[in-house]
Amino acid sequence: MIAAMDISITKAERSKLQELNLDNLPFGRYFSDHMLEADYEDGEWKNVEIKPYQPLLMSPSMAALHYGQAIFEGIKAYKNSNGNAFIFRPLDNYKRFNISAERMQMPAVPEELFMEGMRQLVALDRNWIPSREDHSLYIRPFMFSSDEVIGVRPSETYKFMIILSPSGPYYNMPMRIYVEEKYVRAVPGGVGYVKAAGNYGAAMFATAAAKKLGYDQVLWMDAFEHKYVQEIGTMNVFFIIGDKAITPDLEQGTILDGVTRQSTITLLKEIGLTIEERPLSIEAIIEAYKAGTLHEVFGTGTAATISMIKELRYKDYVMQFDVDSWKTAPTVKKWLADIREGRREDKYNWMQKV
Ligand SMILES: *Cc1c(COP(=O)(O)O)cnc(C)c1O
Repeated sequence: MIAAMDISITKAERSKLQELNLDNLPFGRYFSDHMLEADYEDGEWKNVEIKPYQPLLMSPSMAALHYGQAIFEGIKAYKNSNGNAFIFRPLDNYKRFNISAERMQMPAVPEELFMEGMRQLVALDRNWIPSREDHSLYIRPFMFSSDEVIGVRPSETYKFMIILSPSGPYYNMPMRIYVEEKYVRAVPGGVGYVKAAGNYGAAMFATAAAKKLGYDQVLWMDAFEHKYVQEIGTMNVFFIIGDKAITPDLEQGTILDGVTRQSTITLLKEIGLTIEERPLSIEAIIEAYKAGTLHEVFGTGTAATISMIKELRYKDYVMQFDVDSWKTAPTVKKWLADIREGRREDKYNWMQKV
């Protein structure tokens, strides 16, 4: 048992909830009444506060704006039909957050600050958790360097914060994907395995180019040979080939270790598929497509859960899929939703009660 942490709570005078239609929510645009904020100074975390959601005051010289020591996480809270609130696998995100912090030369956040701070914030704003199917409260913990000094060095001060955004489905349509063979997302030895803010900024140029060609996202390839697949946008990727599910392995540090990826692997095993975590080349994918053994392609991530891919384009070669006939991705998607929303037994203890 962790000792109760000293969090000072200042409640909003008035809730903004009435002004919002929880049934028709774009992703990540609206924020709940409160936020959590903590400061790292003199080697320790202090001033842990939950207070009304509000803008930050910052100096133009704030280090994060210049040198990018900034990391984040994405987690979801759900309400089941009894009105109880649960958070999906938050401890896995907590552990990954500190892996990101270490790689970006930032201080670790104590478990109690992250977990108990999140629990208390979500409990306070529990009315913001939509109960409609496929809807959830998106939890965004993040940390950034806050020294007011222009100079390339690790900051001595940091801010850790959590904000909450009630959200509807993210990408609900099957996607068209452009296999990217010029720009890269991650290299061995780099920061592909962490949720560092700069990774996402660096991906936008290639993604915008693919969008101009009519595609929704890119499939990233390895940086040396442009031969092995890595991830789809900000999702892990799975290929069902024959009776196997194949997803790129994490060994080189170029793939983000997704919580949805891990959950999907667990559920695919329960369905009875063989899972292979290994390098997979675009040639092997095309070969399987031509042989008729490439059955399904889908992305996994907290925001979208499971996103089916209806088209993959590599150079001038186009692979198309009849997603309506698929069995596996829809089953995993349904099981995940059922576990999260309390309709299926939570036998892996993924749901943490708020
Ligand atoms: C966050 C993220 C994922 C998915 O991780 P989840 O824990 O499942 O949300 C996959 N790839 C990248 C690059 C990501 O940033």
